[in-house]
Amino acid sequence: MRSVTKRLIDECREADIAPLYVMDNVIPVLHSSRPATALVYDINDKLDYDGLLQKTADSSCYRALESVVSRYGIKVGVGAQGHPHGKRILSKIYLFRDGGDDLRDIDNLFRKAHCEMSNGEISESYGEALRCDGKFLGYSDCCIESAVADDIEHMNILASRGMLGDRGYSDSEVDELAPGNKRMLRHMQKILGGDRIDMRTAVKKISKLSPRVRFSYFTNAFYACEPGCLNAFEVGRRVSTSYLGDDPMLAELYTKIVLPHNIMFVYTLSIKESGLPKPQSLYNFSNKCIAGILNKMTAHASGSGIDSMSIQNIIDHLLDNSSYEVTMDALLPKEMMRSLSGSGRKRKDRVPLDQRLNKSRKRRRGRIDIRKRR
Ligand SMILES: [Zn+2]
Repeated sequence: MRSVTKRLIDECREADIAPLYVMDNVIPVLHSSRPATALVYDINDKLDYDGLLQKTADSSCYRALESVVSRYGIKVGVGAQGHPHGKRILSKIYLFRDGGDDLRDIDNLFRKAHCEMSNGEISESYGEALRCDGKFLGYSDCCIESAVADDIEHMNILASRGMLGDRGYSDSEVDELAPGNKRMLRHMQKILGGDRIDMRTAVKKISKLSPRVRFSYFTNAFYACEPGCLNAFEVGRRVSTSYLGDDPMLAELYTKIVLPHNIMFVYTLSIKESGLPKPQSLYNFSNKCIAGILNKMTAHASGSGIDSMSIQNIIDHLLDNSSYEVTMDALLPKEMMRSLSGSGRKRKDRVPLDQRLNKSRKRRRGRIDIRKRR
């Protein structure tokens, strides 16, 4: 391992920065295999736009990153992104070398879009904001465009139902209408199959996927336009090659843990509309794996004393000895399980979404119907 990487990893460990962020966000910027990376820090709809940015900049995660990576020529910035609903705001911590001005432009666009959507207006700036953000992070154009199309369609669907900017709807009601979630779920069915799977099976299945598919999920919270998208694959391969040039075991770590984590994350996110708990156990598992391996790798001054076999042993050991409160099986909503397993019978007590929406509309009097205003 290059001494600069080893020093950075040690400093990140001392500053308590999650090993997953180190691998997925910090080192690719150090290696310049990606122009910028972003980690999703927090979701909080109780704060306004500026309040959320301030909270993110004050967070221990942001401060720890800033104190370490600035010594390596890496800059840290905060950003926020409105949801197509205009209600939720997502906050992000960006790591980058150049382009502080771009970040300001992205912030202005997202801010405008959020303001419009939360007033129940269809925002022209929203797609532009997403595009600029994707380009800044080095995402491929095809993947940016498919994500933008999904989100704009989602915004239009919500507007046509009078749900845009309306705080009365739950996250799951809003997400149930997201074309992006449906597309992600189709992708996951395609690559992981439609059967019930636990974490061990998932890890095994992912390890058997072609490099083309695995590399196309090159970073966390990124959604390839198609599993195995050639352009996304090339970004993943560039990141992996830079790891390989630094230390082959870092490349192994990226391929065997970071990429499977990203795929599992898309899987759990695509079924989020069920309103079930967040996949914290997946995040903890990946962090434990990476921490265990990085500790071994940086413990030796020369020659890490770790090989491909010992990486596999650590993963197996953790799989055998971890308790997962949330397995992939438990995360699947019942009706989705039924459609995945092929028997499409609906539960009798399940009320169709339209009826549920009508019911909740009746409950809230005095809400503004934007279809009437337009
Ligand atoms: Zn693509």
